[in-house]
Amino acid sequence: MSRERIAVLTSGGDAAGMNAAIRAVVRSALERTWTIVGVERGYAGLIDGAFRELTDRDVGGIIHRGGTFLGSARCPEFETEAGRKRALEQLAAAAIDALVVIGGNGSQAGANALAVAGFPVAGIASTIDNDLRGCDISLGVDTALGIALEAIDRLKVTASSHRRAFVIETMGRECGFLALMAGIAGGAEAIVIPEAPASVDEVAAVVRAAYGRGKSHAIVVVAEGVEGGGVALADGLRQRHEELGFDLRVTTLGHVQRGGAPGPFDRILGSRCGVAVVEALARGEHGFLIGMQGAELRQTPLAEVAVGPRPLDPSPIEIARVLAR
Ligand code: ADP
Repeated sequence: MSRERIAVLTSGGDAAGMNAAIRAVVRSALERTWTIVGVERGYAGLIDGAFRELTDRDVGGIIHRGGTFLGSARCPEFETEAGRKRALEQLAAAAIDALVVIGGNGSQAGANALAVAGFPVAGIASTIDNDLRGCDISLGVDTALGIALEAIDRLKVTASSHRRAFVIETMGRECGFLALMAGIAGGAEAIVIPEAPASVDEVAAVVRAAYGRGKSHAIVVVAEGVEGGGVALADGLRQRHEELGFDLRVTTLGHVQRGGAPGPFDRILGSRCGVAVVEALARGEHGFLIGMQGAELRQTPLAEVAVGPRPLDPSPIEIARVLAR
């Protein structure tokens, strides 16, 4: 099947490097003299037919920008049969041969639904949650981690000045990857993630022990997927204020973790994935997610990806425990 007219969209949570991936899809498609159509606002734009042809110049000056210049959206309508039927009609009306979906778990579940319906689709693994099957490190993770780490470093400076404990909540939805890695890199005294939950009493004991060892601060990194998040944990710790030693503050990093300019890793990864996806489509391959496994880009069938999020191995939490002496 020829792939002379393809479309690209970004869906779900935005991630740094999505622009690099779009740029690479566009320019490598144009290199083959294909036509490339950008879909605005993810699956919402697919259903509305918000399509526009993209040129080399349209993707100029975006590789260094965070977010996605095509826009993204969460679109419940696409989860319905009727919504997807409408999207397929729009693709047919615009004579699109194949679609590239840049996004996370929900977006790739949507891509799989289109593949099951018989439409040629290929995914690029992109989510700051890093919970996609078939992918060790997805587009946007490295930049989000860098931002979370910078925030932790800053909070640690002020914590030390005032001899405080800080509870810092990171993003990641149900997955503790960002919290785990930011916690290790940030030298946290405690890390609490859904995959390795800890009671308020356990965290209080760690904070107290840090105080007892004469530490100038205690940093507790919590994943947003932990029930109640950082605020609930901080409330629980405050109720044990007498035991802690430290004065306590809580900071929710929230969406600042998304908005940053992509670092070199995500720019390169996005560029590689975009080029590889077009090469694969040119070979007539589709129905896969492209993601990094080890140092290689590999394809995983979308049907395997759509089974659900990749479970996280929480064992590196032990590194943080040992090193927080
Ligand atoms: P992410 O891709 O970042 O994980 P979401 O989980 O919000 O983000 O999913 C993005 C969009 O993908 C949803 O708004 C919806 O339009 C579509 N989607 C999610 N799950 C499914 C599904 N099971 N079937 C079809 N489409 C889905």
